[in-house]
Amino acid sequence: MTASERYDIVIVGGGMVGSMLAALMVQSSIRIAVIESVTPKAFDPDSLPDLRVSAFSPASKKMFEQVGAWSNIEAMRHCPYAHMRVWEEPENLLVKKLLSGHGNETHFKAEEVGQSALGYIVENRILQLALQQVLEQSSNVDLLMPEELQNLERQGDEVQLYLKSGKQLTASLVVGADGAISQVRKAINIGVRSLDYPQHALMALMQMDGPQQDVTWQHFTPTGPQSFLPLPDVNGQSYGAAVWYHTPDQIQKLQKMPLDEFQDQLLDTFPERLEGVQKVMAKGSFPLTRRHAHNYVKPGFALVGDAAHTIHPLAGQGVNIGMQDVAMLAEQLLKAQDANEPLGSINVLKIYEKKRIQENRKMICAMEFFYRTFSNDSAPAALIRTLGLGIAERAGPLKKQVIRYAMGL
Ligand SMILES: Cc1cc2nc3c(=O)[nH]c(=O)nc-3n(C[C@H](O)[C@H](O)[C@H](O)COP(=O)(O)OP(=O)(O)OC[C@H]3O[C@@H](n4cnc5c(N)ncnc54)[C@H](O)[C@@H]3O)c2cc1C
Repeated sequence: MTASERYDIVIVGGGMVGSMLAALMVQSSIRIAVIESVTPKAFDPDSLPDLRVSAFSPASKKMFEQVGAWSNIEAMRHCPYAHMRVWEEPENLLVKKLLSGHGNETHFKAEEVGQSALGYIVENRILQLALQQVLEQSSNVDLLMPEELQNLERQGDEVQLYLKSGKQLTASLVVGADGAISQVRKAINIGVRSLDYPQHALMALMQMDGPQQDVTWQHFTPTGPQSFLPLPDVNGQSYGAAVWYHTPDQIQKLQKMPLDEFQDQLLDTFPERLEGVQKVMAKGSFPLTRRHAHNYVKPGFALVGDAAHTIHPLAGQGVNIGMQDVAMLAEQLLKAQDANEPLGSINVLKIYEKKRIQENRKMICAMEFFYRTFSNDSAPAALIRTLGLGIAERAGPLKKQVIRYAMGL
């Protein structure tokens, strides 16, 4: 019989969220294992930017600084942005007429709230590598990679985990940080409320003219937003990503197109502000599903990040709310450790669940509101949102509040 290695906490999934949870506890005496099935490719400064990138907030950046991972990101690459523009050109003639003379764009600037950046765009792999570098140097965390969870069962106050390699682990608490199709969530029978959006997203990597940009923008159309994200320079060459939201059929068609044909279609359809595209280098598409777990915890178990919730990415808040989950969970676990309480105790875990489930529900509702209001071609909706964008631009203190909220400050 294989001997089982004992940990206080086993985190299944060493993506951005699971790795951050472990990194927040590296200074403690808690013994932690992180199981990650895919070893991320090492950073190569000459490689093209990945298609999977995240815009993350200054609040999330603070967490990377706190755990000592921000300098690792800086040693690789990232792209801060100081401006965000959001606008709509109404197609409806009546709406156009009613709005003539009114602004239809909001321009958020970091300087309006005394900051140098509204957020940062970083490749998901770089965020993960930066955190894993912190874990590799710690004495209380073992990063088991590549290792995949096969099965788990609760035995008394402990959880027994069986890995595909044949290894066995025992833990007081198992955290499911294993993404949207979480095996941990399934194994412990926590259900989810979910909705497949009739909209998919396509990300295109573009080689651009000029220096690295510091503006991200979003143009709303009735079929979905069209966005631009600036990306970090590679060897003095600048890059950007176009994000195209449309019906699943249309996105499938665009995904199948050869790159040169796709580039023509992109330049014909996206607003003129997408200037300076030299060449589309790669593209990839993603289905969009909203999910929310009925519970985040059970005795001996907790869910965090995409394992607990996925949201429409139009406001780029997915990772940020995952980071808030692990900040709260780590706080409760460190308190429990100090008070000598069992880490898998439902009383400890319920505090985490209560605080985060309510906040995440609010964010899910807000994203739902944006999605429904901005992907809709009825004239009243077009009038309200275009007026809203113009009013937001002139809203003074309220606009500053919105900026600070989006920055997580
Ligand atoms: C098109 C698109 C654009 C997005 N843009 C943004 C954005 O701009 N800003 C933002 O904040 N969010 C964005 N998001 C959301 C963001 O990508 C997710 O919220 C984020 O990746 C969640 O991180 P996570 O660590 O919870 O899960 P994941 O990133 O899915 O990580 C889960 C990890 O668990 C591992 N794993 C899974 N199963 C097992 C197993 N059985 N054993 C061991 N390991 C396992 C996986 O290999 C993986 O590394 C976007 C999402 C999409 C689809």
